[in-house]
Amino acid sequence: MFGVGLDEAERLAALRRYEILDTPPEPAFERIVRLASYVMGVPISLISLIDESRQWFKSKRGINATQTPRSMAFCTHAILGDDVLVVPDARADRRFADNPLVTGDPNIRFYAGAPLRTPEGHRLGTLCVIDRRPHDLDDEKRGLLADLSALVVDELELRRVNRVLGDMAMRDGLTGLLNRRAFLMQADRLFVAARAQQRRLSVLMLDIDHFKVINDTWGHAIGDRVIVELTLVLRAALRKSTVIGRLGGEEFAVLLPETDAQRAVQAAERLLAAIGDASVPGPNGAAGPVRFSASVGVGSLGSDDADFGTLLQRADRALYAAKQAGRNRVAVL
Ligand code: GH3
Ligand code: MG
Ligand code: MG
Repeated sequence: MFGVGLDEAERLAALRRYEILDTPPEPAFERIVRLASYVMGVPISLISLIDESRQWFKSKRGINATQTPRSMAFCTHAILGDDVLVVPDARADRRFADNPLVTGDPNIRFYAGAPLRTPEGHRLGTLCVIDRRPHDLDDEKRGLLADLSALVVDELELRRVNRVLGDMAMRDGLTGLLNRRAFLMQADRLFVAARAQQRRLSVLMLDIDHFKVINDTWGHAIGDRVIVELTLVLRAALRKSTVIGRLGGEEFAVLLPETDAQRAVQAAERLLAAIGDASVPGPNGAAGPVRFSASVGVGSLGSDDADFGTLLQRADRALYAAKQAGRNRVAVL
């Protein structure tokens, strides 16, 4: 009856993608419920999102509850169709007559709910209006309620798209790691905090060895797979919260908070060992796996460092030294 099933799983997944549940009130949504109450001439209006077992109110006017069990929710019925659901008198409607929200507080008699229908057709919840006395809703007002519910969805979409775009602007397309700009922004923040609190901070700069040869020998596509595989190795070897950036083609940087130079070198050596164990399949699997190595330069926060750039330059010089010394090794200055 509540539309539970495969569609329901997809609906819930869509709802999750909006990252709206349990977020604080926001003016854009408050304005819409205020308008809904005013235009419909009723004391209660809600933006209700139907979660797995509850309805949660993103915005509410005229009631105190922030959520109710899904089983009680009028909106659960309203999201079964695309049209505005109108219940002129809940006490006279056998679907709702013995609902606790009807028999007790807030004593719902009139209900109208317009589904919040996403562009893909998922109905996330409703914009609904409620009164404590029975009445009807004319076609014009039904249309207006539907318009206002579309505004709610537009608002949700705007937030989701902005999040996706923000993420795309920050991340490298091939690896999903932070791009250079985003990495440097994060690094600046950590640098300032570490210096202010006199905490340790190290940075690793890592560059794949003879990557041009890998490209020339195996092709650019295999080169890309090496970059992705290296990313997986870094992710697996480091804590989940570690800030990792792809600074350029085959050049990466890792921030190690609370880590002095000695421990940073140890971490770098562990990484190189893990990289040494990694490989990607050769073309058609015929030629055996493609192996690769990297060199790492370590920079650690010193008392004279004015900004993160100074630290990174030191790591870069150390990286150059590691390359000069024969590659597949760690150097620290
Ligand atoms: P070294 O050991 O000194 O680092 O030598 P190297 O060959 O790795 O260094 P070099 O900087 O000469 O070459 C890096 C190459 O990486 C050149 C460039 O074409 C290639 N490259 C840069 N970005 C990408 C990418 O996204 N994918 C692939 N496949 N190759 C890339
Ligand atoms: Mg290289
Ligand atoms: Mg390079």
